[in-house]
Parts: sequence; structure tokens; C-alpha cells
Amino acid sequence: MKLHLQTIFVAVGLGIKRNWHIFLAIIAGIIFGNFIHDNPGSFVPFVKLLNIVGQAFIRVIQMVVIPLVCSAIVVGISSIGDSKQIGQFGKKMVIYYGLITVLAVIIGAGLVLLFKPGLGVQSYISQSSALEIQNQVSSALADQRGQLGNIVLNMIPQNPLESLAKGEMIPIIFFALIFSLALSKVGEISRPIISFFESVFAATMKITDWIMVFAAPGIFALTTVAVSAFGLAIFSTISKFFAVVFLGFCIQFFVLYPLILKFFSKVPAGTLFTAVIEALLVAFGTASSSATLPLTIACCEKRGISHKVCSFVLPLGATLNMDGTALFQTVAVIFLTQAYGVPLDILQIVMIMVLAIIASSTCAGIPNAGLITIALVLNGLGLTPQQLVEGFAFLFAIDKVVDMIRTTVNVASDTVVTAVIADNENEIDYDLLNNTEQYKEII
Ligand code: ASP
Repeated sequence: MKLHLQTIFVAVGLGIKRNWHIFLAIIAGIIFGNFIHDNPGSFVPFVKLLNIVGQAFIRVIQMVVIPLVCSAIVVGISSIGDSKQIGQFGKKMVIYYGLITVLAVIIGAGLVLLFKPGLGVQSYISQSSALEIQNQVSSALADQRGQLGNIVLNMIPQNPLESLAKGEMIPIIFFALIFSLALSKVGEISRPIISFFESVFAATMKITDWIMVFAAPGIFALTTVAVSAFGLAIFSTISKFFAVVFLGFCIQFFVLYPLILKFFSKVPAGTLFTAVIEALLVAFGTASSSATLPLTIACCEKRGISHKVCSFVLPLGATLNMDGTALFQTVAVIFLTQAYGVPLDILQIVMIMVLAIIASSTCAGIPNAGLITIALVLNGLGLTPQQLVEGFAFLFAIDKVVDMIRTTVNVASDTVVTAVIADNENEIDYDLLNNTEQYKEII
């Protein structure tokens, strides 16, 4: 008898739907991680093992990201064909991604100025690991110096193959977009290349299906390791900062996105979030928009949003649209200035918001990237890492969990913009999107 691995896993899970497996894995990871934190000792080898399992899970999804992004863009753009429609998609994408990020920094600045979590936090700021953080921030600042002017240049690959080898997403996307546009203009001769990329796309989606069989154990491992590092008690120590950031994320997720969907499309927020739930859970577990991308595309495409829109809007979103990160960076920098008693005038606050928009879009969709590119915002303010080193130690300590939440927000907003554009362009199969019974499992 042929026993499929998938059948075994489903049987073990008593037929529970896959998204519930992942959700339960997150809850179990939080409880177990906290337990390990409170009773370390004998669990050290086990945590090491879980770390390997979690990292292996992230690696296998990352493995398909570059072939997936390249093939999705080539197939997507050549299927749009008409360059007017591509321009239309592109224009809308810039407007909606821009709008959602501007609103994110406004919400972040509003909340941090209202609740002032930085005041009175000095006593909690720890000296430990300060030196390490100091070096980390200094080198990040050195890397960022002069970057503002280079941002545009860095988007253009000098050698696309080198960018592919280094996994530099923005230059890869830049080249893939131009290459696909060219293919759509050369007529029949492009057919073999397009067929090649169609096959690559289909195969990478198949690999994604297989990987999802391991989503629950992978995410359990990642969550357990993350929580075991600091335990849940840390959140009471820095409750005000965490509460402000968390409130901001909740406003984005539960208020802003539903409003954007309502104003600009006919897609109900609840329906969209149900359709992409696996991607949101994986975003939480992996803290990486890029690693989640295969899942985000799979959820959107298998549940009613056209390939044309998904293949164009989602890869760019996973790379450039980081509104959760922008909100976090705005709150964190203003929080640090409050904690260190640096007075800010309105112009400086606006500058922080603008820099957070830039810093978040230059940030790769990988774990903790937002905490590195925050140096760009600090640099713009003329603040030195020495001045802020203790605050940084504190931000690093809790970044694991904040990162998991902001990545979920980043991925959610990619799907919101994709759904809005698809709705505007008549690229949604509403019969499928509205009918959860017909949803195909992602595996
Ligand atoms: N981890 C985030 C993401 O992948 C980026 C960040 O660190 O803010 O979306």
C-alpha cells in the first residue's frame, strides 16, 4: 500500500485544517518556549534541535523564492501583454503601497506622541550586551552613510547574474521587470522562454505545496526558540513601548486595512484574511516576508485573485512594502528620543516619518532587517549609536517577537493592496473568493 506523507500528517492531525495546525503550533510554541525559559538547564540540546528544525524550514522556503519571483514576474507580465495595462497596474501599486505606508507612519507617530512610552523607561534600560549592540549599530550606520543618494543606483543591477547569486531582491526584480517587458514586445520568438518560466513557476509552486506539509512543526520550532530566549515576562518590563507598537499594528490590521478595502474595493476584509490565513501564520512564524512569498502567492491565486495581478504586485510588495516596519521604526525612534530626553520639533518628527518610509522600503524581507535599517533614520537625525546604545540593547532584546508581528502586518498589507488592484482591474473570481468551501488547501 502506498502511504503518502501528506496522508500520514493529515491523519495525525485528525483531519484538522492546515491553518489550524499552524495556529496551534504557534500557541504550543509560545507556551512551550515560555516553559523552557523558566526551566532552562536540561532543555538546551532540545532548543538547539528545534533551532535546526526551524532554520531548515525557513531555508527550504527561501530556496524557492528567487526562481519563484523571476518566473512569476516573467509569466505575469507576459500574460498581461498590453503595456498600457502594465502601466496601470504599476501606477496603482505605487499609489496604494505609498498610501498604506504613509498612513502607517502617521499612526505610529500619533500613538508614540500621545502615549509617550519613552518617558520614565530609563530604569529598565539594561547595560548588558551594550558593546555588541554598539558595534552592530556603528557598522550598520557606516553602511547606511550616503545610502540615501545611492538607493536608486543600488536598484539597478550591474550584473543580473551576480544579483541572483547574492539574492539581492530589488535588482533581481528590476531586471526581471525589464526583461519581461522586452519579451512581451518581441512577438512569437519569446514563446520558448515564456514556456520555460511557466514550467519553473509551476514547479516552484509544487515545491511550496510540499514544504507546507512541514509548516506546523517548522513554525512550532521557530516560535518555541524565539520565546524561550526571553520568556513572556519581558513584556511586562517594557509593557508601555510594546503596548504602543502592538496597538499600532492592531489599528493597521483591524481598522486601516478593512477601511482601505471598503473604500477602494468590494473585497470584505474578513474574507481576504481568511483566504490568506496560512500566509499570515507563516509570516508570523518565519518573521520573513520574502520567505512567506511563495505562500502569499499560493493563497491569493488559489482563492480567486488572478495570476496576472499576484505575480506582479506580491513580489514587489514582499520586497518594498513594509508598512508594519515603517510604523515600528517611527515609534521606536521617537521612543528612544523620549527616553533620552532629546526634544523634537514638528519638522524633525516629519523627517523621522519620511526617513522611516525610506528605511522600511530599503529593508529586505528577512528577520530583524527593520532593526538594522532603523540606523538610517537615526543617522538622518544626527544621533550617534553611543547616545542610543542602551535603548538599542533593549530594542534588540524584544525584536524577535515584534518582528514576527510586524512581518504579519507587512504580508497582510501586501495582500490588501493586491486585492484592491485585482478588484479595480476585474481580476478577482468572487465566486471562489467568497466561497471558503471551495478553497483548495495550500497543500
Ligand atoms: N522581518 C520583516 C519582514 O520580513 C522586516 C523587518 O525586519 O521589519 O517583513
